[in-house]
Order: sequence, then structure tokens, then C-alpha cells
Amino acid sequence: VSCPPLRLHKIMRNVDLLDSVDCVLFDCDGVIWRGEQAVPGAAEVIDLLKEQGKNVFFVTNNSSKTRRMYADKMTKLGFDVREEEVFGTAYCSAVYLRNVCELRGKVYLIGSPAMEQELAAVGIQQTGVGPDHVAGKAADWAGVPLDPEVRAVVVGFDEHFSYMKLNRALQYLSQKDCLFVGTNRDSRLPLEGGKAVPGTGCLLQAVETAAQRQAQTVGKPNSFMFDCVASQFSVDRDRCLMVGDRLDTDIMLGSNCGLKTLLTLTGVSTVADAEAHQKSGCAERQGMVPDYYVDSIADLLPVLRG
Ligand code: PLP
Ligand code: CA
Repeated sequence: VSCPPLRLHKIMRNVDLLDSVDCVLFDCDGVIWRGEQAVPGAAEVIDLLKEQGKNVFFVTNNSSKTRRMYADKMTKLGFDVREEEVFGTAYCSAVYLRNVCELRGKVYLIGSPAMEQELAAVGIQQTGVGPDHVAGKAADWAGVPLDPEVRAVVVGFDEHFSYMKLNRALQYLSQKDCLFVGTNRDSRLPLEGGKAVPGTGCLLQAVETAAQRQAQTVGKPNSFMFDCVASQFSVDRDRCLMVGDRLDTDIMLGSNCGLKTLLTLTGVSTVADAEAHQKSGCAERQGMVPDYYVDSIADLLPVLRG
């Protein structure tokens, strides 16, 4: 069995990829920063792209911050950014519930105060944020008091996730007309030194298992993140580049939306991972093969400086 030729190209000085795009979408963690540190050269890359008239946007699956909080973090790290250029899943989930679901009623929120704020900003009230501990006897838990105005369960990153939250979500989701939305399915959050902690996908799967229902997710690779950008700015998808460190979220989002894709190796995925998808011959996995890759987005600097 012969494999198709590798589609992956490492970017070099003479590649005019950047001339072929007007818009660049950057994933955040693992691309422009790692934890609390900016990726060296990333701020200059963004400055030069903007100087050259490109639209730049930031799309993150992390639901633990509002757009404002991201803009503040990025400004501290030395990036030139406006709040309107940031699309996180806390914000995008609120937009999804308001504009796509046209939610009338409250949300039972398994999530962060940032999600509560983004929901409030579009006029949606929530119940559930903060700790919720088990009380009473197990026999009573199915009869836990519920808010009759709740019409949706939303699951994002929640450091207070607990058995009682899981139980409460199950009770709400047993009501057939209750919507079920998740921010994203990232299973692990990688840390320095090869360590990792559980991601939102773990919490979402726990709720799905308990409720015996599948959530609709908003975050990458779902095209809603791109639709959200495209609904607010004029973006020609044929002239748009998605830059990310994860094949299953960022690169897949780009493929799903017909964008050009660039993998950067400062985060989760490797060239070997991409080659494995390509060589698998599996049609579904081809969306996880990027068009290009770089060791770091700083490798774009020589091209941008001209
Ligand atoms: N979700 C959470 C809770 C995170 O902390 C992170 C990364 O720090 C992510 C998701 C992934 O974010 P991104 O899409 O920017 O890589
Ligand atoms: Ca990332």
C-alpha cells in the first residue's frame, strides 16, 4: 500500500503563504503563550501582521476567562490586542445560547465566574456557579430542589466540579426540553515538564454519561468559533489562516471551515502525530493534517520583516 505524498511543508523564507491571507486566527495556549509566559517573538509577529494590514483574531477553548480578562492578560504579556479580537469559549457559548438557541430562561452553569459574566452580558441569568457540596441522604438526591426557570445546562471548566453538580445536571437534563451545551472537549491541559491536568472534556463526559445525552459543543473544532468571528468582521475564508498547536481542535477547526492551516510545535501536537493522521488513509483524520508547520510562530519573523 503506497502512502500519499506528505502535504506538510515546513515554512521557509520563500514561502508566500502570508501574501495569500488577509486574516490570521491564533489559538492561544501553546501558540502565543505557554501558561503565564509569552512565546518569544509572538508579540512582534502580531504587530507585524497588523502593520501589514492583516486582521488578527485569538480563538481559545479555555472558558475560564472573559474577553476582557484575556485582553488584560495579553496586554500584560506585551501583545497589541483589542477585546473585540478575542473569541474564548466563555464568550462564544453565551453568544451561542443567545443567538443560535434563542434561550429563554436560565442556565444551570457548571463553569467559572467568567462564564457567569459573559452570560450576564448577553442577558442570561445562571444558577450553579461556585461550590455545591453533597447534603442529606443519597435517597433524597434525585429530589434536590431545582430552579424552575432553568432551560439549559452548560458545562465549562469548573474547579468546583462535584458529585452534587453532576447530580443536579442529571436532574435538569432529565427534562426533555432542557438544552445541553458544552464549551469544549479538550481532555487534558498540558503543563510544563510533560505533566497534565484534566480538561473540560472530562467534566463534560461525566455529565454526558450521567444524563445519557450528548452535549452540543461550541469550541474548536466546531465551526461555531469561526462563524462567531465571521459574523462580526468581514472575513474571506479563502484568505484566512488558522494557527494552532493541536491537530484535533485547531487544525480540525481550520479544515472544517475551509481555512489554510499552520501547526506550530510550541504546544501539544508533533509532526509525527500529523504524519500518522495522513498515513492512516482514514478520510476523517485528514482534517487533522495541517498544510504547513513551524517550530514556533517566531519562525514567521524573517518572512514578515521582508
Ligand atoms: N481549557 C482550559 C481550562 C485551559 O486552561 C486551556 C489552556 O490553558 C485550554 C482549554 C486550551 O486553550 P487553547 O484553546 O487556548 O489552547
Ligand atoms: Ca492550544
